[in-house]
Amino acid sequence: MLVLGIESSCDETAAAVVDDQRRILGEVVLSQLEEHRPFGGIVPEVAARSHLQHMDRLVAEAMKRAGIGFAQLDAVAATGGPGLIGGVIVGVMTGKALALASGKPFLAINHLEGHALTARLTHGIDFPYLLLLASGGHCQLLAVDGVGRYSRLGTTIDDAAGEAFDKVAKMAGLGYPGGPAVEQAAALGDPKRFSLPRPMKGKPGCDFSFSGLKNATRLLIESLPKPLSGQDAADVCAAFQLAVAESIADRTRRAIREFRRTRPDGRHLVVAGGVAANTALRQTLITLGAETGLEFLAPPLKLCTDNAAMIAWAGVERLRLGLVDDLTFAPRPRWPLDPSAKKVGFAGV
Ligand code: ATP
Ligand code: MG
Ligand code: FE
Repeated sequence: MLVLGIESSCDETAAAVVDDQRRILGEVVLSQLEEHRPFGGIVPEVAARSHLQHMDRLVAEAMKRAGIGFAQLDAVAATGGPGLIGGVIVGVMTGKALALASGKPFLAINHLEGHALTARLTHGIDFPYLLLLASGGHCQLLAVDGVGRYSRLGTTIDDAAGEAFDKVAKMAGLGYPGGPAVEQAAALGDPKRFSLPRPMKGKPGCDFSFSGLKNATRLLIESLPKPLSGQDAADVCAAFQLAVAESIADRTRRAIREFRRTRPDGRHLVVAGGVAANTALRQTLITLGAETGLEFLAPPLKLCTDNAAMIAWAGVERLRLGLVDDLTFAPRPRWPLDPSAKKVGFAGV
């Protein structure tokens, strides 16, 4: 079974061909980083135009690398949301057009489902497992019970973790994207020189919050002499990174307790999303997994961040169950994975 996947919900344009033996046969990702960098963040209009400009070429390239023609595909899958709507429309329209022209089924994939099922592509693990999804737009803990069966145990009530990294980097004058810059600076800093809050620590439930920490970091930076010295910036970044890692660990520990109680046969803690690149966070999660008896798994970084292999794989999983969509599917800027979960703050979709 061969599925073409298309991703365009944020700032990566991507296409990939994946088979049901968990092989990625052809894969391309084009990052728009350089186009957005002058603006210090993603500009939706710029993103949509760039997806439109490059999508055809990337699909052709992924097919070429896979060494197949459209007639050999079993389906075409595209991210149907959630995300920046202009980009999602480009991917969905491309996917529908290719499906229609080649007479193949079309699958609209929830981008978060792509992230959620990646560990089954990379490690072949069984359901159920616990997923921490921490990216620029999302911060959630999900129990993954099956294809289309997700229970959200926690989400952010304000900012996503990656967003907080990006904003702190901006405040500290470290540029965009923030996560890698903050991590690099933190490596030279003393995490104990400044003390920052551990948001939500000890609170009931498994929700996250990062806006209080972001504000505390802003006040700390404002209190320091300008221009910020390299050492001050490094110490602020180290303190901030430790606060994020400890806050995420506290929330995840609670989620693990809940997960183990309700799903005693679950064995894995999995991460996805760009923030999973953070070494300090990974280290904390490895320790946490060891303490709680869950094995910690992290897909290779390029499959943690936005990519089309995860969309193609989610397509394989859905196609195997006969869960295809039709060409009337409308792109969805918001699309919660667990519709029964209570509504929370802005990023808590
Ligand atoms: P979405 O939520 O729709 O997936 P996204 O494109 O913003 O959106 P990703 O591409 O998965 O998400 O991840 C990007 C985010 O990850 C950015 O916010 C970036 O700062 C953060 N990030 C990347 N590397 C690191 C790192 N080493 N440490 C911390 N954060 C990081
Ligand atoms: Mg991205
Ligand atoms: Fe993503």
